[in-house]
Amino acid sequence: TSVFASAEYIPPDAIFEVTKGFLADSDPRKVNVGAGTYRDENGKPWVLPSVRMAKEIVANCGHEYLPIAGLKTFRDKAAELVFHDTKAWSEGRVATCQSLSGTGALHLAGLALKKANPTLKTALITEPTWSNHDLLFSSLGFEVIKLPYYKTGAFDFPSYMAALRAAPSGSVIVLHSCAHNPTGCDPSKEQWKEIATVIAEKSMFPVFDSAYLGFNSGNVDEDAWAIRYFIEELKMEASVCLSFAKSMGLYGERIGLVTFSTGSQDTARVMNSILENVQRATVSTPPVYGAQIAGAVLNTPEIAKQWAQDLITMSSRVQSTRRKLYEELLRLGTPGDWSHIVKQSGMFGYTGISPAQIKELQLKYHIYMADTSRISIAGLNESNVEYFAQAMDHVVR
Ligand code: PLP
Repeated sequence: TSVFASAEYIPPDAIFEVTKGFLADSDPRKVNVGAGTYRDENGKPWVLPSVRMAKEIVANCGHEYLPIAGLKTFRDKAAELVFHDTKAWSEGRVATCQSLSGTGALHLAGLALKKANPTLKTALITEPTWSNHDLLFSSLGFEVIKLPYYKTGAFDFPSYMAALRAAPSGSVIVLHSCAHNPTGCDPSKEQWKEIATVIAEKSMFPVFDSAYLGFNSGNVDEDAWAIRYFIEELKMEASVCLSFAKSMGLYGERIGLVTFSTGSQDTARVMNSILENVQRATVSTPPVYGAQIAGAVLNTPEIAKQWAQDLITMSSRVQSTRRKLYEELLRLGTPGDWSHIVKQSGMFGYTGISPAQIKELQLKYHIYMADTSRISIAGLNESNVEYFAQAMDHVVR
C-alpha cells in the first residue's frame, strides 16, 4: 500500500483563499479587505521610497551564503530599534538571529525555547488571534491554550485577566506588541502593567509577536512601549519576534529577526548558540536579499530618515481611512454602533458582521473579507471607501 494511504487532506489557509477569490473576480468594483498587506491611495502595492533607495545600494552585492545567524549589520541595527535604550542591550544580554520574517522568528523562538528548556509545555495565545499562532505552536509540540480577548468592539480585559490567572504557571505567552491581529484592540498602558505583573508572578515567558512595530503609530518606540516595560521596568526575560514585512513592505523577502532578552551575557551567548543550532537544522542559512535591503535602510542615516517618514505615510493613511469609513457609515445612518472602527488601531478592524453578511458582500458587491469579519483597512482608499460603506450599509439593514 501507499505511504500516503492514511494521509488526510488539510484545508488551505482561509485568508489566502480570500485573495484567490479576489484575483479571479473580473468586476471593476471589486475590493480586497482580506489580506493584511498595505496598499497606497490607488489601491496598489507600495514600494517604500526608503526601500527603493536601499535597493540601489545593494544592487551589486552578490549571492553568497550569509552566516547561519544572518547578516550581522542587519541583526545589530534591527535589535537596536527595539532595545536601544535598555540595559539588556547596553550590557550585551540580547541574543539575536535573522529569521524568515515574523513567522520564522516565532518558529525559531519556539524551537529554541524547547531546546533551552524542555519543561516548557504550554503556549498561551489570544482568542481570536492571527490564525498561525495556534498552528505554529501546536506544530512545535506546545499545548496551546486560548485566552478570551475580545467582546463587542473592545479588548475584554476582565475575561483575559481571569483566564491568564487560571492558566498554568511557567507557560510561554504570546503577546501582540501592538496592533492586535485581528481585532485592532490593544491593552492600555495601565492594562499592560497589570498583565505584566501577573505574567511575572506566574513565571511565564513572554514572546512578543512584533509584526507591526512602527507601522501602527508611525513610531517604533511608541509601538514597542509594552516590550520595554516588561524588560526594562520589570527586568523580565522575553523574546521579541520582529518582521519587516509590513514596516518595510518587504512581504516576499521574508526578512525578520528573533531576539531573546536574557539575564546575563552568558545566557545570551548560550541562546545565540541554540538559535544558530535550530536555524541550521531548519533553513541552514537565511536569505540574503531582504537582509541587505533592510540592513541598508537601517544603517544608512539618510535612508533611515526616509523610512521614518514612510512609516508615518502608511500609518496616517490607514488612520485617516478608518475615520472616513466611520464618517461614511454615520452619514448613511447605518444601523449599529460603529465607533469601534475609529477606536481600533493598526491595519485591521473587526466589523462584527455575520457570515451571511460577509457572503452577501462578496456575491453582490465583490467585496472580499476574512470569514472572521476582520477587514484590512489598507485595502480601502478615497475611490472605494464610499462604495464599501454603502455595501456594508445594505447588508446590515
Ligand atoms: N504575527 C502577526 C500578528 C501577523 O499579523 C503576521 C502577518 O500577518 C505575522 C506575525 C507574520 O508575518 P510574516 O511572517 O509575513 O512576517
